[in-house]
Amino acid sequence: MSLNETDLRAAIAREMPGVRADLERLVRIPGIAFEGFDHTQVERSAEAVAELLRGCGLEVEIVRHGGQPAVIGRKAAPPGAPTVLLYAHHDVQPVGDPALWTSDPFEPVERDGRLYGRGAADDKAGVMAHVAALRAFGDALPVGVVVFVEGEEEYGSDSLNEIIAAHTDELRSDVIVIADSGNWDIGRPALTTSLRGLVNLFAEVKVLKNAVHSGMFGGPIPDALMVLARLLTTLHDDDGEVAVDGLVGREGASVDYPEDRYRHEGGILDGVKLIGHGTITDRIWTKPAISVLGIDAPRTLEAANALQPTAKAKISVRLAPGDDPKSAYAAVRAHLEKYVPWGASVEVTLESDGSPCVIDATGPAYDAARAAFTAAWDGATPVDMGVGGSIPFIATFQELFPRASILVTGVEDPYSGAHGPDESLHLGEFERACLAEALLLKNVAEALTT
Ligand SMILES: [Zn+2]
Repeated sequence: MSLNETDLRAAIAREMPGVRADLERLVRIPGIAFEGFDHTQVERSAEAVAELLRGCGLEVEIVRHGGQPAVIGRKAAPPGAPTVLLYAHHDVQPVGDPALWTSDPFEPVERDGRLYGRGAADDKAGVMAHVAALRAFGDALPVGVVVFVEGEEEYGSDSLNEIIAAHTDELRSDVIVIADSGNWDIGRPALTTSLRGLVNLFAEVKVLKNAVHSGMFGGPIPDALMVLARLLTTLHDDDGEVAVDGLVGREGASVDYPEDRYRHEGGILDGVKLIGHGTITDRIWTKPAISVLGIDAPRTLEAANALQPTAKAKISVRLAPGDDPKSAYAAVRAHLEKYVPWGASVEVTLESDGSPCVIDATGPAYDAARAAFTAAWDGATPVDMGVGGSIPFIATFQELFPRASILVTGVEDPYSGAHGPDESLHLGEFERACLAEALLLKNVAEALTT
């Protein structure tokens, strides 16, 4: 028997209390893949996800290739029906300074219709949206599914390529749903169709063999911090536009993101000017950005009266869709080597990189998704949006499964605060996201079954 929209609405409403309880159980497991954290918690969270998928009638295995455990759950497609891969990740970001949290990050609490906790949105709610859709169908699932829940997304997905390579046949699918992004606003869904790439690098300048007395020697010597500061200022022009030759960028994003909303969501202090040219969406989606994330230098309280011999900055370059991490790194490196002032040396090293991506969101799977979103949000049509952040493995999926339609969805809204303190999930929007995913599976089955 096949379920229609009315059936699925009722089924999702029926399943939500259980889905919420299981989400809270997942949030209580502090599974962080970063170095120095207790990785037995990542094992626990993989086990918990595996158990949830078994409960949906899937055949489940926990897999790993040198990194943290991922969970793969499968159910074969009915004859002629398509297979849909449902991606999410079960690891979470570290919590940072616990004092910045209003309540314990690993004890989920509801306040004003939002569920607070680390991973409550990113991405344990993504995991539970998949589970909710599967539970809504019960035995009447009209598509084949592969649920793929990674365990080290927040730590760079280092072994993801190996996992995908080793399990390519199991992961093969017609449609890939990546539930790790967000919606345009509360009440307005979105499909994410472009993401920036990333190059993180270090630049270390050297001017002296060792620190020397700042009184005895100060004057003719360019100390390392002054050299570094000057070098960093060459990365932008006076308007704050990125000034590195060779980086790709373009203007022309189609959605309006009002400056006051951006200022509000970013917590930008009054009087601070925005830098660069173009609309806000151009600047966060389709143009490169360069920021300095940290500097190794003496702490001010401990700084002696001495000229520093070396100083090191961590520089983050967000790449526009269409750029390439290797050539972008080469361009930034050449820029730093060219502009280091006063004859000092600079050593540039790569920390990590990831490709940007653009998705051509046309065709039957995208139509099926848009119809599902519009129905779940009571007539609000989804926005095609870009994301300034990066999910580099989408490019991997594009390469490996060139014929699959990739849908980047998610449960976050502009107030979710993923990666920050007081991360939270809007529970009303979460139910819509769960319904949207169930309707998406129904629509994809209707559109693609042969
Ligand atoms: Zn995520």
